[in-house]
Amino acid sequence: MRKPLIAGNWKMHKTLAEAAALAKELKDSLGTMTDIDIVVAPSFTLLNTVVTTVRDSAIAVAGQNCYPRPSGAFTGEISAEQLKDCGCAYGIIGHSERRQLCGESNAFINQKVVALLSSGLRPILCIGETLEERESGQMLTILKEQLVSGLRQVLPQQAGEVVVAYEPVWAIGTGKTASSAQAEEVHAFVRDTLGKLFGHDCAQKSRILYGGSVKPANIDELMTQPNIDGALVGGASLQADDFIKIVSFTRP
Ligand code: PEP
Repeated sequence: MRKPLIAGNWKMHKTLAEAAALAKELKDSLGTMTDIDIVVAPSFTLLNTVVTTVRDSAIAVAGQNCYPRPSGAFTGEISAEQLKDCGCAYGIIGHSERRQLCGESNAFINQKVVALLSSGLRPILCIGETLEERESGQMLTILKEQLVSGLRQVLPQQAGEVVVAYEPVWAIGTGKTASSAQAEEVHAFVRDTLGKLFGHDCAQKSRILYGGSVKPANIDELMTQPNIDGALVGGASLQADDFIKIVSFTRP
């Protein structure tokens, strides 16, 4: 009953010409798919080109970040309104690279979630534990805090717009995927937590993505799990062939 969603996070890769070529390949292969939501997240400089290339197709575009103020003296930042204005429908928020490299806190991430929702964009809120946190038994506490803090001030009627991406930090870009059982354990916990925050019906409708070294070879197994509704894909989203295979995972 939840429509699967596969999102590609292009991170800080691609020139304008490369982004246009990749977007065109994806549009040609996937642009008319209706049983799945497909999202690509290019760098800010590429957004306009990608939005123009995938226009009138099933592919939506996401910003990789935003600043939680509508406009003003915030040099180097991009607002949710600006993402909306340039044709984005989603924004990735709280990616572990931003948490770790840019020192983003749960409270700051929460402001961005609220800003995106206020601008009519769907946040893809990333949460995930480090290996140390997992091995020391803190995993669920950390994830709960990321989720509860990240969703503060979100109203129950808005919560269905939020997509949660569980991305164990130790699995991102490392080639180590969480096993489908490890991922499912966390996804079930996330859904349970969403239920406590926003009610059972909302939690059942919310989409929870897995991210961390997703590839054509492991997507089918991940997607058999009842609480895995799709994937946030980094490295494998940079090659059209791989991303097309991932989006074309075997349907049950
Ligand atoms: C990511 O950065 O969101 C990610 C999941 O990367 P990768 O697929 O390369 O592990």
